[in-house]
Amino acid sequence: MIRYDSESFVHMPPHFPRRFAALAVLTALSGSAVAALPVVTEAPLRAHLAFLADDLMEGRGTGQRGGSLAVRYLETQAAAIGLRPANGKSYLQAINMLGQSTLPTSSMQFNVGGKTLAPRLGTDVVFANGNGQAATRFDAPVVFVGYGIDSPDDKWNDFAGLDVKGKLIIAMVNDPQPTAAEPNRFGGKSLTYPGRWTYKFEEAVRQGAAGILLIHTTASASYPWSVPANGFSHEQFHIAGPGNALQGWISEDMARTLFAASGQDLDTLRAQAEVRGFKPVALSATVRASVDSRVRKIEEFNVAGIVPGLDPKLKDEAVIYSAHWDHLGIDPGNGKSDHIWNGAIDNASGVAALLAMAQVAVANPARRTQIFLWPCAEEQGLLGALGYVRAPLWPLDQTVADLNLDSLNFVGTTRAIGVAGSERSSLYATSGEVAKAMGLRLAPSVPDLGGAYFRADHFQFAKAGIPAFNVGSAVFSGDGYFDFEKEPAAAKARMVAFNKDYHQVSDEYRPEWDLSGMVQQAQFTLNLGYAVANGAARPTWKPGQQVGKAVR
Ligand SMILES: [Zn+2]
Repeated sequence: MIRYDSESFVHMPPHFPRRFAALAVLTALSGSAVAALPVVTEAPLRAHLAFLADDLMEGRGTGQRGGSLAVRYLETQAAAIGLRPANGKSYLQAINMLGQSTLPTSSMQFNVGGKTLAPRLGTDVVFANGNGQAATRFDAPVVFVGYGIDSPDDKWNDFAGLDVKGKLIIAMVNDPQPTAAEPNRFGGKSLTYPGRWTYKFEEAVRQGAAGILLIHTTASASYPWSVPANGFSHEQFHIAGPGNALQGWISEDMARTLFAASGQDLDTLRAQAEVRGFKPVALSATVRASVDSRVRKIEEFNVAGIVPGLDPKLKDEAVIYSAHWDHLGIDPGNGKSDHIWNGAIDNASGVAALLAMAQVAVANPARRTQIFLWPCAEEQGLLGALGYVRAPLWPLDQTVADLNLDSLNFVGTTRAIGVAGSERSSLYATSGEVAKAMGLRLAPSVPDLGGAYFRADHFQFAKAGIPAFNVGSAVFSGDGYFDFEKEPAAAKARMVAFNKDYHQVSDEYRPEWDLSGMVQQAQFTLNLGYAVANGAARPTWKPGQQVGKAVR
């Protein structure tokens, strides 16, 4: 899962009781021409997981040796398994990125009413540039733009009537809250994509703003100030291309001080921003910004292999299974005795599952083509998946679904599988059929309060118009849902306890783990993939649920 964004999730496992395995294998799903489904086994999954999470792999960091080792491992394993290269004769797809570190000489000051406000970097503001420049300097007027959303589908434009080109915009995170009159606006309780900070940064680029600062509150961001502060104190990565000269966060206290000095009240303006028809408010302030950066060019790699389809026509269409190979790497200067973020659950588990799935899929092709894709740089903002959809190895309009795996169940089998995000498309109904054939239920849907749908690689495919979701991810939504077969209370406790290991050096492989739940999750994902790959019709979005369309 993506960095500095979701420190409070737990993992929701899926399910597959062994006693139903044979039944599932022999059950032909509706619309499916094949009689047998390949069976995922534990031994290869465990072996790949143990190796990928080993200290020798140095946490599979982006731009680090451990990352290169992971790519080389996947490339050779794909060949050993018998996958066909997805990129001509190669399994690799190069993704060009920029690594950007904000230097401590960077500064920002506000000039307001003849006074100067100098926010402290790291305490009052954090920022970086997103344009790959070593130094950016500008003076600009400051404008409050409410939620900073321009969404024609929601008939909402926080930029109406004011050109913010060349200006520093200050915006709130999250999206307009439901009202009595409009209980379902912006997804009701669920977070919609325009509520995400990534959307706001992208929108600032589209609007031609000089830069953007988001007002941090723990409630609206769903994490404390330390999370963006920590994120911006480290190297950040971008796909080379257009970006903001400055993007970052301002503390609520600093924003309150700045607004007051400009003769405005932060709370009043925020309340106005909740009302349909809100217009941006120019503050009587200017900013002088100076962003000094260390910038380096990095080439990372997605790894991808293919199982060609059998049907003369449908083989031109493909189902993608994806699982990001990167984690947070190694930092000998982290001041701890353990310097390695092993990322055993996040996401050596998904990578290993995909390898185990591919191993059995090659011997049993489906009607459509299947692509096994291991994207890079997910932890840096879903960059490998973004790079893929910008330069797809298979035509996007011939790509019918993406089934993503990120951080799998390590506490044993469950009776219900989480399919959060699938309800946006016909993949939900197909998931239900696949679950039933395996003797499983689907976990109940819960509101996606934290925007989990936008935080894993499948989202880049969804934005590109392809029905996609993260299989077994119900726990990313609030309380989550647990229905374990064995010792449910203890299993639940172990899942919840993983919170303290999330994105920590303690996310390590433990040989005593019960991987039956992981095998079950991989089997469900593969069965779902075959149901799609063999189905008569390709998956379709439900009306208004295609994220990419909603945010243009
Ligand atoms: Zn992660």
